[in-house]
Parts: sequence; C-alpha cells; structure tokens
Amino acid sequence: MSTRPSLVVVGAGPRGTGFLERLAANLPELYGDRPLDVHLVDPHPPGPGRIWRTEQSPLLWMNSQAEDVTMFTDETVRLEGPVRPGPTLAEWAGIDGRAFPTRPLQGSYLRWVYERARAALPASVTVHEHRASALRVAGPREGRQRVWLEGAAAPLPADLVVLTVGHLDAEPDREQRALADFAARHGLVHLPPDFTADLARRHDPAHSADAAVFAGLLSVYAQLLRLGDRLDPGGWWHGFFGYLASGPPGPRLRQLLALSRAGIVRFLGPRVTVGTDEERGLFRASSEAVPGERTETRALVDARLPDPAPEFTGSPLLRALYEEGARASASGLLVVDPADGRVLGHDGRPHPRRFALGPHTTARTGGAFARPRTGGVAFGQNDVTARAALALLRDLECRLPAPLSA
Ligand SMILES: Cc1cc2nc3c(=O)[nH]c(=O)nc-3n(C[C@H](O)[C@H](O)[C@H](O)COP(=O)(O)OP(=O)(O)OC[C@H]3O[C@@H](n4cnc5c(N)ncnc54)[C@H](O)[C@@H]3O)c2cc1C
Repeated sequence: MSTRPSLVVVGAGPRGTGFLERLAANLPELYGDRPLDVHLVDPHPPGPGRIWRTEQSPLLWMNSQAEDVTMFTDETVRLEGPVRPGPTLAEWAGIDGRAFPTRPLQGSYLRWVYERARAALPASVTVHEHRASALRVAGPREGRQRVWLEGAAAPLPADLVVLTVGHLDAEPDREQRALADFAARHGLVHLPPDFTADLARRHDPAHSADAAVFAGLLSVYAQLLRLGDRLDPGGWWHGFFGYLASGPPGPRLRQLLALSRAGIVRFLGPRVTVGTDEERGLFRASSEAVPGERTETRALVDARLPDPAPEFTGSPLLRALYEEGARASASGLLVVDPADGRVLGHDGRPHPRRFALGPHTTARTGGAFARPRTGGVAFGQNDVTARAALALLRDLECRLPAPLSA
C-alpha cells in the first residue's frame, strides 16, 4: 500500500468539484510542494457527477437562471483562502443570463470547472479518478482510513476522507413497498420518489413582489446558514425556503397551465392520498379538499424527493457510517461540526479524519453553486474544510520519518 499522503474525495459532483477548487487555491500556502495523491471516487464523471450528467435529455432544465449560477468565489464570500474569480454559467456558455439552462449544459460547465481546478494543482499532486461507488470507510480514529470501492480487491488508503455524496437515493418505505407490490401484481406502472427536476413566478418581471420576496428570503437564508444548524435544528427554515423560493421555471409553469387548459392535466388538490382498488387493479387518488373528485389510474409517478432518514438510506456507505457511530440529526442528516465539516460521532466528538460537505449533512446550504456576489456559503465551507484538510496532511507529513539519505 502506497505511503504517499493520500486524500480520498467520495462524490465528484458540484460539491466535490468546489472542494477541489478550494484545495488547489489553498495548497501553495498550506502544503507547498509536498507530494499528495488525490483520489476522486464517483461512478459518474467528475464535475457534473450524477445530477448534471451531460448525456441527459436537454428537456431537463435547471431551476436557476444562467446568470445566477457560478462555481467561483468573489469578495463577498467569507474566505481565509484566496479569491479565484471565474465566469458564471451564462458568461461561460455565452447565453442569455435570464435563460433556464439545460441540465447537460450545466454539466458541461461543471466539467470545465473541474478541469480548471485540476489544472491549478501543482505537479506534486497526482489526481486519480475512480469510476466506482465507495461502499465503506474503515480505519481507526487516529490512523489511516481505508475506503472500500465496489469491485475493487483492496481498499484505497486515505489519510483523510471527504464525503461529498450529495443527494442520495432512499429505500422504499412501507407505503412505497405496498404500492410497488400492488403495481407488480396488477401489471401497473409505479415510479417511486426520485430526484426529478424542480422555480417560480420570481423570474417574471410582472411579479416583482415575488422577486423581492425571493431576494429577501435568499438573504435571510444565507445569514441563517452562516449562523449554523443550531438555529434551525429541525430544518424548518430550509423547508420554508425551498417551499416559497424554489419551484419550476416560469416557462415550465406556463406549459403546465396550457396543458391544464387543454384538459390534458388535471389537478387533484392539496394533500393527495393514494389508495388501491384490488378488485379492479387500479390506483385511486383523491384530495379531501376536493370532495367527490377521485381519479383512477394504471400509472403512479411519485415525484417527491426521497426522505433522507438513515433507516431508509439507499447508500451502503452512509449506512455503514451510521452503524459505526456517526450521528444522524432528527431530520435524518449526517451531523457535522459546523466549524469545519468534520463528521461527529454519537459522543459528539469530531472524527479527526472524516469530513462531509453537502445536502446530506446538517451543514447543508442552498446549493453547491451560487448566485454571484451573494456570499456563496458553500464556497466558504469548502474553503474551511480544504484548509483543515491541508493543515492535517501537512502535519502528518512533518511527522513521517525522514527518508534515509543515499
Ligand atoms: C434533480 C435536482 C435538480 C437540482 N436543480 C438545481 C438548480 O437548478 N439550481 C440549484 O441551485 N440547485 C439545484 N439542485 C440542488 C443541488 O443541491 C445542487 O445542484 C448540486 O447538485 C448538489 O451538489 P452535490 O455535489 O452536493 O451533490 P450531487 O450533485 O448529488 O453529487 C454527489 C455525487 O456523489 C456521488 N456519490 C454518491 N454516493 C457515492 C458513493 N457511495 N460513492 C461514490 N460516489 C458517490 C454521486 O454519483 C454524485 O455524482 C438540484 C438538485 C436536484 C436533486
């Protein structure tokens, strides 16, 4: 097993890429030209990762406007490391800033950001890409970690691990399983919750009040994120922000309205419940708010986001982490130290060699990318974690016995 200092990043989507960008930005100051292996583990291509895969249909859109998407820092971001400016998605792609870009286009931007971050690393750093899933992180608190990859005979050695695994699948709960069984028995279609596209009237100049509410909420939300999870332990603000300030792009809402007017789409009302009719082999959906309305169908698409609860996580990696003593919050998120993203154990102690950043953690932010000049909270977190990682790697390097001189 190589004894070269080694950093393993699990998950090479936007957050893993943002972390790499901060690693490159801070490395000269904190780590100099010492050797380092950086292992990026992801079954999907680094940069876009899973959500922003470039081979997806261009019919899938972002729910952000192109001018609101940057992966680069500016003076508004609280950073100890250096600011490294770069183009927004709109500037990079040369498209109208108010357009809703396709997911593949965002994927291409992320790929370019990744290549740029990689190129900014000095020759003393070797980047290894592993197109595989990580199954488990093992190793003592004070020693080297081992990261087991699917299909690999030996684990990757890791002086420290950063988990940027993002949005994770969930195992179906009891209700979902019953619906899936019912569908299988009657030859019906059932698509359980998954990561489907999701903005609102906020882009419509005719609804400037909405735009103002959105900008206000964005600002409050950024402040809360800075103050940390303790002010929003149950995730209420996160949900409230998502509910009020997020939603499908305006043009998509107009398309939906047109489908509704044409009689193709009907709305069932709020708090829909879905039942099953065993005799006729059909799903039955209704809302108590619309008495007497009932819809019977042969196909059910459940387009909600999966619940992150640990008992339902579809990630063997996280399951193993929880079994080994990592703590989950009441809302099912991996608890991390807000100071630097270190994973916390049941006893509240931060793991010295394990870090996590992103939506699966209690330090989640509005997203892995940000509107320019809004203080990009995720960029600040990436900076802190990259600096903590580099300081630890440097200290470990200094402790290694000096090589015997020839
Ligand atoms: C469908 C969808 C649409 C969205 N649209 C927008 C938008 O328009 N605007 C916006 O601001 N935000 C949007 N978001 C919010 C989202 O938080 C960010 O866009 C961003 O994708 C989060 O980046 P991430 O790297 O943290 O997570 P992800 O993008 O989920 O990336 C995580 C990566 O980790 C990998 N991974 C997971 N587990 C393992 C493992 N065990 N081993 C190896 N690799 C692993 C995955 O393959 C993936 O590539 C959207 C989210 C979703 C789910």
